[in-house]
Amino acid sequence: MTERPRASHDFSTVYAEEDMGETATVFTRRASLDGHGVVVDGTCPRCQGRTTTEYRHGLPGTGTKGLLTWLRGEHPVTTPDDDSDALTREVHYCECGHPHPNLPPDAAFTGCGASWRIRTLTAERAT
Ligand SMILES: [Zn+2]
Ligand SMILES: [Zn+2]
Repeated sequence: MTERPRASHDFSTVYAEEDMGETATVFTRRASLDGHGVVVDGTCPRCQGRTTTEYRHGLPGTGTKGLLTWLRGEHPVTTPDDDSDALTREVHYCECGHPHPNLPPDAAFTGCGASWRIRTLTAERAT
């Protein structure tokens, strides 16, 4: 991925597990390429890095995030609206991909350590 972040990414932000609460930043969601998940894309409210997180639907062995448990099994097929609803309740973590200073070697995500909830999630339409 060589796409440039939309805001200037502050690489010097020191890693900290900080809960940013509910962010006003608008995130977009789209179906993943293979159709088995949802990709949530936006800008980290802490380091301003572009963060992209893929949530899988009911695929065993890939579930490390809370939403997956929620989507698994009894909800094999969800409508986009259901997804958005669940995704706005989910806690999202910075996955900007930049190893911020003091990033612990065992950190779950490569990013600045921020977590937040999304208030506005818009569907990105394929053209
Ligand atoms: Zn971040
Ligand atoms: Zn970052």
